Formats: sequence, C-alpha cells, structure tokens
Amino acid sequence: MTKSSGDNPRSRSRVQQIREGIHLRSLKAKKKVEDITKDDVKTFLKKNAFVLFTVGAVVIGMAALDSRASGKMGMRAVIYYMTTTFIAVFIGIIMVLIIHPGKGSKDEFTKQQKIEQVSPADAFLDLIRNMFPPNLVQACTQQFKTQYGKRVIQVKMIVNDSIFNLTNATQEITQEEIVPVSGTVNGVNALGLVVFSMCFGLIIGNMKEQGQALKEFFDSLNEAIMRLVAIIMWYAPIGILFLIAGKIVEMDDITEMGGQLGMYTITVIIGLLIHGIVVLPTLYFVITRKNPFIFITGLLQALITALGTSSSSATLPITFKCLEENNKVDKRVTRFVLPVGATINMDGTALYEALAAIFIAQVNNMDMNFGQIITISITATAASIGAAGIPQAGLVTMVIVLTSVGLPTDDITLIIAVDWFLDRLRTTTNVLGDSIGAGIVEFLSKDELENRDLEMGNSVVEE
Ligand code: ASP
Repeated sequence: MTKSSGDNPRSRSRVQQIREGIHLRSLKAKKKVEDITKDDVKTFLKKNAFVLFTVGAVVIGMAALDSRASGKMGMRAVIYYMTTTFIAVFIGIIMVLIIHPGKGSKDEFTKQQKIEQVSPADAFLDLIRNMFPPNLVQACTQQFKTQYGKRVIQVKMIVNDSIFNLTNATQEITQEEIVPVSGTVNGVNALGLVVFSMCFGLIIGNMKEQGQALKEFFDSLNEAIMRLVAIIMWYAPIGILFLIAGKIVEMDDITEMGGQLGMYTITVIIGLLIHGIVVLPTLYFVITRKNPFIFITGLLQALITALGTSSSSATLPITFKCLEENNKVDKRVTRFVLPVGATINMDGTALYEALAAIFIAQVNNMDMNFGQIITISITATAASIGAAGIPQAGLVTMVIVLTSVGLPTDDITLIIAVDWFLDRLRTTTNVLGDSIGAGIVEFLSKDELENRDLEMGNSVVEE
C-alpha cells in the first residue's frame, strides 16, 4: 500500500499521510458496497431483465403505433410526440448542465474517470457502429470493446482549491482496460438493442394481421418481465437499504448528498415547469391560435389525478373525460391520440431520465462527452417510450439510459429517495403532453374530420 513502508512514519509528510488514509478508507468503503450489492437486485436488472425488458418494452411501444400511424392524423401525432419528447430531453440536459446539481463540495475526494486517446470523431463513429450491431445475439451477451477507449482511474484530493494528484495511490488503483466509449457497457450493447427494437416494433405495427402473432408474443414477454420485476421489487427495499447505506459511507458526507439531492429535485422541477408551463402552451398557441391556459383549465381534474396516482394509464379515463366533455375535443382524435400517447409519449419521463443520468454522472465526477450526451438523448427518448404508464416505471427504464453510457446502475438508489415525489410531477407533465397533443392534432386534422363526417356520417369512431 505505502510505497515507502520501511520509512519512519514521522518522516512522511502530513499530505502523504492524508492521501494514504483517504485512499484506504475509500477502498474499504468501496469493497463493502461491492460485497453487499454484488448479487442482488442490480445484477438481476442489469444482466437478465435488461435485455428482455428493453426489447419487449420498446418493441411494444413502437408496435402500438400500428397501421393507424400511416394515416395523416397518425403522422401528425407521431411528429408531435417526437418533437415534444426531444424538446423535453433537451430542456432536461440544458437544466442539469447549467445548474449542475451533482457538484460536490470543495473539500473532496474525487474519483475521476478519464477516457483518453479518444477523439470526438472516434467517439462519434463508435456511437454509429454501436447503433447498428453486426450481430444481435453478440450485442446481448458479449463485452463490447473498442480499439480507441482507454480508461484511467485517477485519484485526486482537492483541499481548499489546491489539487493534489495522488500519484502513488493512483498507481495502485489505476486500472487500464479497454472499455466501450459510447452506447455499450456491462456486456450489453444497449443502444444497438434499442435502435433495433424501435425499427422492429415499427415494422411489426405496420404488418397488420401478419404481425399480430409477434405483437402478442412481445406483449406477453413484456408482461412476464414486468411481473418478474414486480416480484424483484418486493425484495428491492432491502437491497436499496444496503445500497444507500453503502453510498453514504462511500460519499463520506451525508449533508453533501442531501444538498445535491435537493438541488437535483429543484432542477427537475424547473425543467418540468419550463416544459409544462412555457413550451407546451406556447406550441399550442402558435399552432391553434387559441388560449392554452383555458385548455389547461379544462384538464385540471386529469392533472390532479395524475399528481395523485403517479400513473398516466390510471389517469386515462379522466383525461378522456376532461378532453371530450370540458374541451370538446373530437372523440376520433382522443381515442387515437390518448391511448397511444399514454404508452409512448412521456415528455416528463424523457426529461427526467436524461437529467437524472447526467446528475448521476456529475455525482461520480464523470464528464460526459458530446457523443455520450447524444446517446443519453436517444436512450432517454427510447426509455420514455418503453416506460409503462404506471408509478415509477421511469425509474426502471433508467437502466437503459445509464448502461448506454457506462454509468453505474446501482446509483439509481441515489435518486430513489425523491422519486416518489418527482414521479408525480413527471406523470402530470406526461398527461399534459398527451392532452395538448390531442388538441393540436384535432386542430390540424379539422378538414379531414369534416370530410369524413360528410362521407360517413357523424357516428363513425375511427378505430
Ligand atoms: N409514472 C409515470 C407515468 O405513469 C411513468 C414514469 O415513471 O415516469 O406516466
């Protein structure tokens, strides 16, 4: 451990002693955390459920678009879903980068992971390569490697703004290994699987009757995995207890973590407010030229239900009622836009997932490069599509985002403490996004709806 073990301890400088002490403490804490968590929830989520869950959830989400999406109304809805989800992700990323809630205190012991010898072009090419895995089975099982990545873990101590490079300690715990750069980790090419599942789901959706068997297969696969996850989640509190305890030992500073979580919560709230109160109403006004806040007032009951239930699916009947009875939105629009929207259009969840992933990176003192931020945007969008409209589903699909950029999945436990609250807020944003989408799609589809009324009579409800 000590380079100069034969030296008289007195002759060692104070800084050197501090370095060794901190180094030892950190290694012990890390070891404890590893011992406790090695074979529990995270292993299940990471290694087994992840592949099946990602494929099942994303395929089902995309297949839900089915043949109706080929119509003009479907296209408008899809464009709306994608645009607003990307705007939400963008807001989340900007907020977390500006506010930087994961910033540590000044006197800290930091573990820095640096990816060296990787040019932006290499990182970008890796990203593209990983999006289209040459062998899908291999993408699920094999540790992906790149010839470009080299990670060096460095240990630094920052005391009163002076940075001490702990060279000896660094040499002892430095691991040089080839690691994936973007989109892959833990033996699973997450990004590749997500891109494949999105394409596959869209195609199944477009195959109509011929795709029915596959759709049913993935539907029940998804259901089975969700049930399995539900069982595992009963065991989760015990695992989470140890994980949080381990984290606290590791972080060595509870108040610092409390402060970070507080800032994180505020950052999520600001992001969701910007999206829900500024972006979506502005979009509604620009397109329809109607007062968005009158429209939102008609939705109050649905928004309160979303806040109370943390579930956009459970809120769906109320959302229908508010839109059809209070806001007089055409039933043919609500019946298409709302169920599909509740499954795949989750602005709040997408914003939250991107923001949370970068927060976890910040807590770990890991700098995300441009390629990784793009990966986060894509996987956060996919994860929000894959998340079911049930409480805390977004927390489970966070695994997709974290693994895609090599962030530790057990760090989800850091944000669990505040998730019960943030889930309510993002669900409300999800329901608002679906409802405003219905208003916009109805406005844009007015002519077609009127023509169809003339052709087929008023009672037609498009299914
Ligand atoms: N609870 C959210 C919803 O139902 C999903 C999530 O966890 O983000 O919309």
